Amino acid sequence: MSCDKSDQRVSAAREETTSRGETFYPGPSRNHLAAFPPKERWNDWTELDSRAWPKRKERHYSLIPTTCFNCESACGLLAYIDKVTGEVQKFEGNPEHPGSRGRNCAKGPATLNQVTDPDRILYPLKRAGKRGEGKWEQVTWDEVLDDIAARIRNAIVEDRRDEIMYHVGRPGEDGFTERILAAWGVDGHNSHTNICSSGSRQGYQLWMGLDRPSPDHSNAKVILLISAHLESGHYFNPHAQRVIDGKAKGAKLIVFDTRLSHTATHADYWVAPYPGSEAAILLAIANYLIQNNLYDRDYVKRWWNWEEYLAIEHPATETSFANFESLLRDLYKQYTVEFAAAESGVEARVIEEIAKLVASAGTRFSSHNWRSAASGVSGGWSVARCLFMLNALLGAIATEGGVYPNAWNKFVPKPIYMPPHPRMWNETTWPREYPLSMNEMSFLLPHLLKDGRAKLDVYFTRVYNPVWTNPDGFSWIEMLTDPDLVGCYVALTPTWNETSYFADGEVWEENEFWLELTWRIDPDGSLGIRQYAESKKLPGTRLGVDEYYEWIFDNSVPGLPEKAARENLTPLEFMRRYGAFEVKQKIGKIYDQTVGPEELEDVREDRFGRIFTRAPKPAEPNIVPLPLPDGDEDDRRFAGVMVDGEIKRGFPTPSGRLEFYSHTLATWGWPEYSIPSYFKSHVHPDNLEKDQTILISTFRLAVQIHTRSANAKWLNEIAHTNPLWIHPTHASELGVRTGDLCRVETEIGYYVVPAWVTEGIRPGIVACSHHMGRWKLTEEGQRQLMATVKLDHNGTEWGLKREKGIEAYESTDPDTLRIWWKDAGIHQNMTFPVHPDPISGMHCWHQAVRVRAADADDKPGDIFVDTQKSREIYKKWLAMARPADRYSPDGTRRPYWMLRPLKPAREFYKLPEEEPVETAVK
Ligand code: SF4
Repeated sequence: MSCDKSDQRVSAAREETTSRGETFYPGPSRNHLAAFPPKERWNDWTELDSRAWPKRKERHYSLIPTTCFNCESACGLLAYIDKVTGEVQKFEGNPEHPGSRGRNCAKGPATLNQVTDPDRILYPLKRAGKRGEGKWEQVTWDEVLDDIAARIRNAIVEDRRDEIMYHVGRPGEDGFTERILAAWGVDGHNSHTNICSSGSRQGYQLWMGLDRPSPDHSNAKVILLISAHLESGHYFNPHAQRVIDGKAKGAKLIVFDTRLSHTATHADYWVAPYPGSEAAILLAIANYLIQNNLYDRDYVKRWWNWEEYLAIEHPATETSFANFESLLRDLYKQYTVEFAAAESGVEARVIEEIAKLVASAGTRFSSHNWRSAASGVSGGWSVARCLFMLNALLGAIATEGGVYPNAWNKFVPKPIYMPPHPRMWNETTWPREYPLSMNEMSFLLPHLLKDGRAKLDVYFTRVYNPVWTNPDGFSWIEMLTDPDLVGCYVALTPTWNETSYFADGEVWEENEFWLELTWRIDPDGSLGIRQYAESKKLPGTRLGVDEYYEWIFDNSVPGLPEKAARENLTPLEFMRRYGAFEVKQKIGKIYDQTVGPEELEDVREDRFGRIFTRAPKPAEPNIVPLPLPDGDEDDRRFAGVMVDGEIKRGFPTPSGRLEFYSHTLATWGWPEYSIPSYFKSHVHPDNLEKDQTILISTFRLAVQIHTRSANAKWLNEIAHTNPLWIHPTHASELGVRTGDLCRVETEIGYYVVPAWVTEGIRPGIVACSHHMGRWKLTEEGQRQLMATVKLDHNGTEWGLKREKGIEAYESTDPDTLRIWWKDAGIHQNMTFPVHPDPISGMHCWHQAVRVRAADADDKPGDIFVDTQKSREIYKKWLAMARPADRYSPDGTRRPYWMLRPLKPAREFYKLPEEEPVETAVK
């Protein structure tokens, strides 16, 4: 990605109109070459056929907007469709997309490889042999849909609704399938989020009630990243562009990463802390701001819930801001730069310099933590919480150059149907031990089923590959191969993956599939389900995807119908033509808006200034309605908070303010963490044996995508290995050099991996990307980046050995004969036990490991695991949880205000009265 000044100009002025009335998208030089074809010529764009050279043969294309599905950024693409053959020639960026602005990473154009992949699954398949045997037969869509629909219908009719589960990795849409499940009355949504980003989300949610930051990097003075945003962090390409824009305008970049990532190479300050110590550094910075009066006192006074904190935690202290400030100084004085230096290994002098820099940013301080530290260690959520504390101290929230709550920058339209909340609570995804879990406890599924708590009749996975992606993959194989635990497993995937081998059927899905399935579950409408898949235009017929989106674009996207009409297009035609529409810019401080009189009816104010009203909710799409505080029996709704005599909209937290103090944590069994604090993680030196070190396993490779790019030949050629990063001093202690094999011993087994000796890692810590090590059990299936392996199995002991690496092969794509790489990398996640954080529910990825030179007969990619040990570690971590049965302050399973995908009806939040307290803890 370019970072020069001209690049900045491109983003500042995306388009101009030429004298011919066409759109000019200036390229970097701005003097002559356009960066993209003018949109007026997208219907017939001409390029010369490079293969016909030296002849000038013209090819004509329709440029059709689409979206890249290779990561959560959802960047815009333009598909170049040959008008003669109807085939996609290439994918390039869509300049009309306001997020990606025409730019993509390598994975965007590589979408073409995924379309033309010779090993892609094109038809529904049904298992023909035993599960995992790899024998399949092609079946018809009717057979598939009728078969699955009948199973689901039976489960619903027999009230076994908790046996239906949909487990998604990358949704790629906002709530469509959640609403399908709600239409079925099933609380069966499961996600991958607790192995991904729950740690960060929890930290942000505790402060502001919303779980994701949306930083304005391009207008920041100082940017602090705890993730690898320039190559692979969250929403990385759109954010990376803006980080570089900010840097081009003079912003200073601070990066925390134990490993020298590409992002760290662009930093003004790269700090490589001891893993898990990040919150100590952040609190030292906070303390510097507090002790030196460098924070925005007026902002803290107006927006923090300090009055609630004083009233509840210090009832004997008079409620005054001066008293709070005095306490604040006292509470944080322990976090000196020297303390942080001792914990992190980063020099005190550097921490102090960074603190001064942060202080200088004022409201132009943008920051972001995603995965990385927050997903690595127990208490990782506290890293995001302590990072956001800096924004909260500086008042850099929803400011230019600051951090927005993402929901205020993200438009979610109202759908055509909104089925009611399911009337049930699924304990398999939301067990009582984890009442504050950010998302479903997805990675515990094999253990919960082995506990005998539940079984599944129909289990779907979509864009998800738990055997490979999740920790403890052999326990997943044990679960999937046991028909008593999983009755029917449907893999929704167009590509082969490690989990789909154990499926009963494979089908590719899109929204059409779910609508048709819903229609067939309830063909006569007697279950009340069919209505949510019925056409409004032609009642009695099934809703189609065109009508679904047409309704949304016509009815619930403000400004779109008017803009489309100006171009003589319907809203649907407009979206088909341009692929994106920007609803609003410069959202501003929604929390600081004054609540209008129309929203205030028969109001009541409580002792902390929370205002309750009987007026209906506002219709503004960006306003997230505030939740009613838990336990309030009043039928008024929460309207806002009193700030300096005015009723402001506030934040969607129980207090309506920024929650420095979490009454939720205090009352749900975690009073010791009720304010932002630092605590020793599961890999703190105090918790390691002398011969153990830390393995960092959470980082991505810039050109790969967890489980979906094994069929992208261009990407595979660039990146097909994941050696163990090891510092020269460490390597020499172990007697290994680059390329030598190491054994990495985890709590449940080991894997064998070649070493890469580099100064790009903190001495004594090792790291290995999780983006590699794809495997298959048979010769068939995806062949460009999946090694053929053999599984051995003796009771609970499992072994995996590579039988064949990657080699050239003949297919419909001549490039497969040009494959030169042999490696497919190492699969490490299988050797990790589950580590559920007792508060956020996040799997804590960092591993305490022993690393040594491999044995003489060890081979790259060898894996050994004992799933009995997996069970023991699962039980050890489960025992750290504080279950709702014992700790719920109000007899509910979970605080109602907390975010939850597919919320059940409110009465199902209540814990069942008849069951004794201990039943959920096995
Ligand atoms: S960042 Fe790359 S992979 Fe992600 S959506 Fe954009 S182009 Fe696709």
